[in-house]
Amino acid sequence: MTQLETQPFPGRPAWTEIDLGRLRRNLQLIRSELPPGVQLLAVVKDEAYGHGAREVAKIALEEGAWGLGLSTLEEAMALREAGIRAPLLLLGERQPAELPWCVAHNLTVCLNEETTATLLAKVAARANKRVPVHIKINTGMNRYGVRWDKALELIELVCSLKSLELEGVLTHFAQSDEADKTFANLQLARFNQVLAAMAQRGVAVKFRHTCNSGGFLDLPHAHLDMVRIGILMYGVFPSAVCRRIPGIQPVMAVKARIAGFQQLEPGDSVGYGMRFTAKTRMRIGIVPVGYGDGFPRVINQGHVLIHGKRAPIVGGVTMDAFMVDVTAIPEAQMWDEVVIMGKQGTEEITAHDIARLKGSVSYDVLTGWRLRLQRKCVSADTQPLDTHACLTVEHAVAK
Ligand SMILES: *Cc1c(COP(=O)(O)O)cnc(C)c1O
Repeated sequence: MTQLETQPFPGRPAWTEIDLGRLRRNLQLIRSELPPGVQLLAVVKDEAYGHGAREVAKIALEEGAWGLGLSTLEEAMALREAGIRAPLLLLGERQPAELPWCVAHNLTVCLNEETTATLLAKVAARANKRVPVHIKINTGMNRYGVRWDKALELIELVCSLKSLELEGVLTHFAQSDEADKTFANLQLARFNQVLAAMAQRGVAVKFRHTCNSGGFLDLPHAHLDMVRIGILMYGVFPSAVCRRIPGIQPVMAVKARIAGFQQLEPGDSVGYGMRFTAKTRMRIGIVPVGYGDGFPRVINQGHVLIHGKRAPIVGGVTMDAFMVDVTAIPEAQMWDEVVIMGKQGTEEITAHDIARLKGSVSYDVLTGWRLRLQRKCVSADTQPLDTHACLTVEHAVAK
């Protein structure tokens, strides 16, 4: 038993691979398109879209991001505990009880209405602090934010509260990555109305920001002082029709190793419910990944890559495994690498491909992989730096 301690833990034959070299390159390509006056807010909510928030945050800041965008108090506190001192902007709305924690951890809150603004001002005053805030303007998304034609009251309230410093005003596009930009431009016009009214009253603000990845790509006139970039930094374009930046590459891949084979005779069926029946002799491979890992529960749909070739899924995906037809890949052997999402040779399965299987969007695919798939960090198309979780690689990255 004691000998085990000297051996590396084997880990599962299924994992996600995070290429931090590509992340860095994507950030450099994005930064190179931004004039020096336009700041980058790297959006690392939901564990950096499933890539690992600590590692991504560190690299984004090294590549010149002004700050980081997050969704929950827990996410922000985890980055503070990891020693990150950069501005952390909490998107969304805060419960009253969260405000003292936000102030204590120097988190920047988005304000959407007056009650939270007044309460935050009190909490900040009690802590003897003047805290920066961003006011979210609802220009048509109708999620968070104060309605554009009612925004001035909130802005004037915030300006009157001495313990608050109006650092930013922002809005969010409902449709920035589709070919038709009519609604995005209407939203921008409404936002500009608010900015004009602010200017008229002499209200100054450091950061006016509207763009997510789609807006950054396709609405250069909306970049203003800062852009909030999530999915593009992870190497996935928000839609099929938005502008492309050459050199942007996906950071995440999902891989596994073949964990078994079956030889099928004509008439043999595969899996629960016997949803696939072999017409001829076939060889199938077992992939030890299932819907319990976030793979969509498809039946006789989708592919994986083995030896650079497409192997179709046969039967239904189960919790922990699915079966693929490897009849045309006779060289496939036990524990050979399977690419579930990513590139192998000249073939590629993208997050968008899996989104189609899932009846969803690429964002949902990236964030939907479960943590029982261990994250392995690699760098710039080279070998894994470490076979353990990304956290163990952090020190290597920092050097
Ligand atoms: C998530 C989010 C973003 C980032 O969007 P991407 O499309 O991933 O670039 C930007 N702004 C807000 C308010 C968000 O919630």
